[in-house]
Amino acid sequence: MTRDPRYDILFEPVKIGPVTARNRFYQVPHCNGMGHLMPNSVAAMRGVKAEGGWAVVATEECDIHVSSDVLPYAEARLWDDGDADRLSLMTERVHAHDSLAAIELVHSGHNASNRHSRLPVLGVSDLPVNSFDPVQACAMTKRDIADVRRWHRQAAVRARDAGFDIVYVYAGHNLSLPMHFISRRANKRSDEYGGSLENRVRLTRELLEDTKEAVGDRCGVAIRFAVDELLGDAGITSETEGREVVEMLAELPDLWDVNVSDWANDSVTARFGEEGAQEPYVAFVKKVTSKPVVGVGRFTSADAMVSQIKRGVLDMIGAARPSIADPFLPKKIEEGRIEDIRECIGCNICVSGDWTQSPIRCTQNPTMGEEWRRGWHPEIIEARGESKKILIVGAGPAGLEAAMSLGRRGYDVALADAGDGGGRAALEATLPGLSSYKRVSDYRLGQIEKLPNVSFFPGSRMDADSVREFGADQVLIATGAHWRADGLGRYTETGVAGITSHPNILTPDQLMVGNLPREGAVVVYDDDHYYMGGVIAGWLSDRGLSVTLVTPGPEVSCWTKNTMEQHRIEKTLLDKGVCLIEKHTLTNVSHETLSFAHNTTSQLTELQAQSLVMVTLRQPVSDLYFELAGHEEQHLETLPFRLTRVGDCMAPSTIAAAVYDGHRIARELDSPPHPDSVPYKRERPLIDRP
Ligand code: ADP
Ligand code: SF4
Repeated sequence: MTRDPRYDILFEPVKIGPVTARNRFYQVPHCNGMGHLMPNSVAAMRGVKAEGGWAVVATEECDIHVSSDVLPYAEARLWDDGDADRLSLMTERVHAHDSLAAIELVHSGHNASNRHSRLPVLGVSDLPVNSFDPVQACAMTKRDIADVRRWHRQAAVRARDAGFDIVYVYAGHNLSLPMHFISRRANKRSDEYGGSLENRVRLTRELLEDTKEAVGDRCGVAIRFAVDELLGDAGITSETEGREVVEMLAELPDLWDVNVSDWANDSVTARFGEEGAQEPYVAFVKKVTSKPVVGVGRFTSADAMVSQIKRGVLDMIGAARPSIADPFLPKKIEEGRIEDIRECIGCNICVSGDWTQSPIRCTQNPTMGEEWRRGWHPEIIEARGESKKILIVGAGPAGLEAAMSLGRRGYDVALADAGDGGGRAALEATLPGLSSYKRVSDYRLGQIEKLPNVSFFPGSRMDADSVREFGADQVLIATGAHWRADGLGRYTETGVAGITSHPNILTPDQLMVGNLPREGAVVVYDDDHYYMGGVIAGWLSDRGLSVTLVTPGPEVSCWTKNTMEQHRIEKTLLDKGVCLIEKHTLTNVSHETLSFAHNTTSQLTELQAQSLVMVTLRQPVSDLYFELAGHEEQHLETLPFRLTRVGDCMAPSTIAAAVYDGHRIARELDSPPHPDSVPYKRERPLIDRP
């Protein structure tokens, strides 16, 4: 297939100072939870992006000095030559595919707590650090500023020598010293680095000049700058100081990478922001500078990208999440395979890797983060093994991913689902704000349709007899899970007394198929702590019901802190008039009277509710599996087929986990790793034996 000429413009080269990007696709810096701790993993992941057609592939933020230590977050590091050597692994991988490697140098200022180095924190002013650590930054003296400039220069030279083609000065996301200096909120200085905007921009200007001087004829010098903090007059806005900063520095860098701050605004989830949401803020930049401008907007539509270029909003299409969900997005546009693009769903599971200090993962792309340790490639999968006929029961995220991946391996696959297919992804996509979840099932159903060796049978409920009769030599059970109504949960391990006396208990499963509460007060009890409780509370409130959300968690939807949505969820619910009660556990139900105990004081609160929605625990739908396997799995060895459980029907978790499990089982079919072995490579710290 050839590329649609409409998209030719996306494949024009772009000059960035002394270097040239081969097209307009630019993987902007993004964290990955691996950073300096897992250099092989990061290098392999970045290499795959370059292979997939991203003309520029950037690191995550890269600390330039031991006084900028953001432990426990695993970002890149360039503290000395040893770090540079590790980073050169990445540049080699990126250059192997004719792409440019970019590095985002940062001194984190009071965003670092220096938990590892235990050095005093250097900041623009005497301020507490950004975390709750009982640590304050010390206002930098001129000597400190000179030190930071020297460290930045040294890091730039090391970056150049490690093979980087673009070196960044980072003034974005409120995470770096240059931005702290620019910020009126943080900068309380009275010297030539404080006061007027010209003074507050001084450090950024100096760092740009220093970096150009250090690497200028070999590397492009980029600035990442947040033009708007979405704080109105309290912060930088694109109409005032954001614009003025771009005007002041317009021609100094070789490239402007512009966005909004903070990170939660920049990487807003699909629930709270559309594709291209940043355009109103960044659109002015190209009018102010002649240098190429990169911007992001969770762009997955080639038409939207072309529109950005043609309308003069951006010169290069920046992407973090779309490049994570599909590292081959540019190649697929280039080869005229638009329908093969695995579109990001905007869930921010990728972001949760950083916040939970674990290697990056992605709902849509199960190979993300696994390129080195498992050797998984997003577009290449090993050819089939000895099994002839595979039956998969359940076409939710796990079953769909397994069917697609096994189909690509060349197996004959039958995929049966009691419903239309899509499982929880299709079901949850009907909830407000979650429509993009449908992409999980749409993409896989679309790919399966193109595979002649995979047959999909919707409307086919399978029982043990029909499975046996099918005559497969491998059977995967991917029958999912359903929400429990009996109150068992994290905080109620022994259940809730009297719960069956309530006349109207509902679960998310019932609500999603249209079984909605009648009029009156509704209590949503959320012991799940991810998005479901908050989504349902908001939805029922929109339907005119009086809703109280009670959770034993410290905040509503508390795990969504890791997807940077918690504050938005809480605000949305409060704006809708939903009553929020945190740190309370459901202890007793007596008809419509609900009793909740405070987690620490045990003080009781009673609420009346005509309807009670239980968002607590999910029960695996594993009866079919155990009917075949035996309750102790005692029949597994004697069955005429190999039987495996996949996804939520084994251990309910995120959609990302179900997709991953489906993918893993598909990769390992016919050659599973030995159960006593570690099934992937590990990056082990060096040991220093005397
Ligand atoms: P996962 O996230 O693990 O993929 P889901 O709950 O999203 O799980 O999907 C499970 C799918 O399995 C649903 O689409 C459901 O209709 C289907 N299913 C459950 N039991 C059976 C069965 N006995 N026969 C066929 N399909 C089934
Ligand atoms: Fe997109 Fe979600 Fe994947 Fe992140 S995890 S890239 S938001 S699909």
